[in-house]
Amino acid sequence: MFNTIYINVGNLFIIRRCRDRQIQSLVAEIQGLQLKLTDGRDAVLWTRGIGDYGTTFVSTETWNQISQQTEKVLWSKTVWFPQGVPRFGFIIWLAIRDRLSTGHRSSVWGQPQHCLYCGEPDETRDHLFFACPYTFTLWLKMVGNLLGTDPDPDWNTTLSTMMTRPYDRLTFILLRLVLQATIYYLWREPNERKHHTSSKTVDQLAKMINKTVRNRITSTNYSTNPRLDGLMQ
Ligand SMILES: [Zn+2]
Repeated sequence: MFNTIYINVGNLFIIRRCRDRQIQSLVAEIQGLQLKLTDGRDAVLWTRGIGDYGTTFVSTETWNQISQQTEKVLWSKTVWFPQGVPRFGFIIWLAIRDRLSTGHRSSVWGQPQHCLYCGEPDETRDHLFFACPYTFTLWLKMVGNLLGTDPDPDWNTTLSTMMTRPYDRLTFILLRLVLQATIYYLWREPNERKHHTSSKTVDQLAKMINKTVRNRITSTNYSTNPRLDGLMQ
């Protein structure tokens, strides 16, 4: 093994205590290269893109070089937005990817579970949001006329409506907050039912969601932010 390789600008290689054959052949190969050296001094450069180098480090450019570029998904704005609640965002993200541990999914590992709201044997994501009569009744109550069209119990229709209709800024914030909170509480309620004997009515759940959305709007300091003025109305 070699200890040190010194390389100077004059293209000389001085290798001390090197007996490794692979290193010897590597050196021979390097020496055989036709290097074109300029008179300028060596400098460290950061890659900014293909064939583009700069002397300063810019984290976003470096990140773009090393990260895998994937196409931005249409639904990302429905999940992540400044006024959203992260724990709600996480649940809706799982719902969009159909990764919530619904009865339909748990039946794969031998633990089927029916819908605790209506008794439907196959509790799928699409059933919960909002093909189930209970959850759809709640959704109708919560969304009101925010969608600008009649709410549909179909999951894909609901999402594509939200992603494609041209909502004004405040309506879109409110709509997403209401959807996130509704999904979060609908997802949490069956677990509460498992651990407590009482179960909430649609009206009780609606009240909780309403209060949560109001609290969230209050915490955004909407009254001092002109861009959010009118959100509470
Ligand atoms: Zn149901």
